[in-house]
Amino acid sequence: MAAAPQNGAFDAHHPPALELLEKCVHCGFCLPACPTYTLWGQEMDSPRGRIYLMKLALEGQAEMNEKWVSHFDSCLGCVSCMPACPSGVDYGKLIEATRAQIERNYARPAHDKLHRKFLFEAFAHPERMKLLRLSLLAYQKSGLQAALRAIGVFKALPKRVAALDSLLPSVKPAEDIAMVTPAKGEKRKRVGILLGCVQQVFFSHVNAATVRVLAAEGCEVVAPPGQSCCGALFVHAGAEARAQELARKTIDAFEKANVEAVVINAAGCGSSMKEYGHLLRDDPAYAERARRFSAQCKDVSEFLAEFSPRAERKPLHARVAFYDSCHLQHAQGVRAQPRSLLQHIPGMQLAEIPEAPICCGSAGIYNLVQPGVARELGDRKAKHIVPLQADIVATGNPGCILQLQSSLARAGHPVPVVHTIQLLDASICGLPLEALR
Ligand code: SF4
Ligand code: SF4
Repeated sequence: MAAAPQNGAFDAHHPPALELLEKCVHCGFCLPACPTYTLWGQEMDSPRGRIYLMKLALEGQAEMNEKWVSHFDSCLGCVSCMPACPSGVDYGKLIEATRAQIERNYARPAHDKLHRKFLFEAFAHPERMKLLRLSLLAYQKSGLQAALRAIGVFKALPKRVAALDSLLPSVKPAEDIAMVTPAKGEKRKRVGILLGCVQQVFFSHVNAATVRVLAAEGCEVVAPPGQSCCGALFVHAGAEARAQELARKTIDAFEKANVEAVVINAAGCGSSMKEYGHLLRDDPAYAERARRFSAQCKDVSEFLAEFSPRAERKPLHARVAFYDSCHLQHAQGVRAQPRSLLQHIPGMQLAEIPEAPICCGSAGIYNLVQPGVARELGDRKAKHIVPLQADIVATGNPGCILQLQSSLARAGHPVPVVHTIQLLDASICGLPLEALR
């Protein structure tokens, strides 16, 4: 009889795979790419150190205790270490498996558990997000937020509460997205758009800009009903069962829409949706469908770059600092496409931000659960942006927009931060830059 697998501190459900761990040859090439190693210079807060800790736990030589867990909680999951690794270690799969193990097997302190539950429960339900939007609107329009900030209330409150306040988006009028938007001129493709959870409620203007650009480029755009959160935030936080449930719901919604591609304008969502095949690999009813679905998913910049432009680009005279979101550049390998879209706008000048591979500190819910580290990384990014003297900053992920806005405001340099697609939309619609402020 074959011996039962020994999983050390892990349970038997997909522990970090030994064959992936053993691909690490300890060369250390990934160290300079890692934000936490860059900040602290500590081996156990580097990719190599974390891989070593996973292996110790798998071999039963380390316990899943507070100290061990802290090294994984501090990891941003930005996967900046992956393109830097010459041995092709799939750190993304390793951290995802480790986080799921932690969530199942480690008893977090009650306050931490409650805080995470609050965030998850809000994100997973669009109707709760809408309620949150209304409360936020009242909080901002009544002047309460400004008054509390002016008297410095948040300095006396726990860091997580202060972080939540500093990252709150300023609520804009909601823009409705039609279930089907016809293509302008001859139809080139029928595509689906993911509306997202945070995106749908707080960034509906970005969704509206995305639909306008796609339609102008000859796409019929379908926003299938029944879609909710794609589950990305849950995957990144190790809440595997909830992520799988939301992934199935997303697949069901888009399959019915009969589209040729699924276009996503939030890099964190796109990177997870491209991995649904892996997330649902054990589900006989969904595994194959998930693989097919993932193959259809494209970031909006990636999708548009495959098309010869049809809509006229009108000049937009601006110096733009472009920030690569980690889930776009590292997880999806999409770097050239958003730059190319921006460079084809007449009058636009692109400025590169130094230390591009290093995360801004947003990383899903990282800036809400690890506010101190996130703030340090945000301040570091702002320090690189300020000297560029850009008129505007562009990026491809809602979390990064909020994180950069908050960091630049702290640095006393509150230039607008927008989604890349908003600049393209403004150029196609002939809007001035001021319209994005
Ligand atoms: S995912 Fe990011 S923070 Fe985590 S080890 Fe890799 S580079 Fe470092
Ligand atoms: S670069 Fe790759 S092989 Fe080298 S230490 Fe980092 S993870 Fe291991």
